[in-house]
Amino acid sequence: MTHVIAQPCISVKDKACVDVCPVDCIHGKDADPQLFINPNDCIDCTLCVDACPVSAIFAEEDLPAEWKAFAQTNRAYFQS
Ligand code: SF4
Ligand code: SF4
Repeated sequence: MTHVIAQPCISVKDKACVDVCPVDCIHGKDADPQLFINPNDCIDCTLCVDACPVSAIFAEEDLPAEWKAFAQTNRAYFQS
């Protein structure tokens, strides 16, 4: 399991989640539209969920139907 950053992060990117993640698994460059969670490193602590001001972060299994694709978007970011 992992947590996933979905649509609401796009254009917000305030990095509040980065500050609270105990394993530093949330990444993104300035040019990226959003931040991404490395599924290989996330320990599902949920701290980022509460820190996000726009409720963009979900446990993968709890992603809303319209944002299911973000699981792969996050995963793919770390496969390149
Ligand atoms: S759930 Fe915890 S470990 Fe996973 S990205 Fe969020 S803060 Fe980091
Ligand atoms: S806290 Fe939420 S909006 Fe801010 S960078 Fe993280 S996921 Fe994006």
